[in-house]
Amino acid sequence: MLPFKLIYHERYDLNLGTHVFPSQKFRLIRRALLDQAIADEDDFLRPVPAADEDILRAHTADWMRKLKTGALTASELMKLEVPYSPELAEAVWLAAGGTILAANCALRDGFSANLGGGFHHAHPGHGEGFCAIHDVGVAIRTLQANRSIAKAIVVDTDVHHGNGTAAIFRGDASVFTLSIHQENNYPAYKPPSNLDLNMADGADDDEYLGILLPAVEAALDEFHPDLLFYVGGADPYCEDQLGGLSLTKVGLRQRDLGVFSAARKRGIPVATTLAGGYARRVEDTVQIHVNTIVAARDTAIAFPSTSPARLH
Ligand SMILES: [Zn+2]
Repeated sequence: MLPFKLIYHERYDLNLGTHVFPSQKFRLIRRALLDQAIADEDDFLRPVPAADEDILRAHTADWMRKLKTGALTASELMKLEVPYSPELAEAVWLAAGGTILAANCALRDGFSANLGGGFHHAHPGHGEGFCAIHDVGVAIRTLQANRSIAKAIVVDTDVHHGNGTAAIFRGDASVFTLSIHQENNYPAYKPPSNLDLNMADGADDDEYLGILLPAVEAALDEFHPDLLFYVGGADPYCEDQLGGLSLTKVGLRQRDLGVFSAARKRGIPVATTLAGGYARRVEDTVQIHVNTIVAARDTAIAFPSTSPARLH
């Protein structure tokens, strides 16, 4: 049994078939966590779809209406890069509800993980790159509206820049956005995050961790967030089809452990989401995401108290 909750819904799977986005990974990650005896059935919670009023905290009414009615234009569909279906809309509403639930569980337990979400390319008024609704943006704004948190940090380690996150929170001093990504990769235009760590093609474990971990520590010390949202992409992996960095599975696990322990040492709860992962072998993507949950468990065991061992 895990010391925190995992959030999952079987409708996260979009049944996209041979699409490069392996939406079956959500189901496979849950299965692997059970098969590897990392989690048991009692560790899972089922989310409900986010309320429309919460979706509207991060998105325009026009975009929400288009998603609910299937009224996307041809160019909006091209940008989204996944076919529209009512099931897609249901899945992204559920993913947003899942990240809200993960955030609330993290405030209680110190950690929680949505085994979905991390749709960091979604913008207020359009979708992009497989991302229709920005679940993390919706969750942050919802918890702020409910006065559960005042300030949040987003640590985005997907290999692609968190352009939607930057667009949603530009000019919002209550949210610190940090993205580490491959500079020469999608999206072509990268609206500025509070901190963008641009990695060169082929950067390896040492280069990546040497840049990321000190930056996270400094951001936490400077910003004092109430909650850290981790967008834990599996696509910095060296064998990813849509990524051009050279991280190993060991390096990716050190990445997760480093970020989680930096937060935990400071008493900052962590809500994780999955984001991208397009390894040639889907089982590699699944295992990298599973390892993120193991890193959260190991960090929770290493630092059992959720009260701050404050460094400040
Ligand atoms: Zn990505």
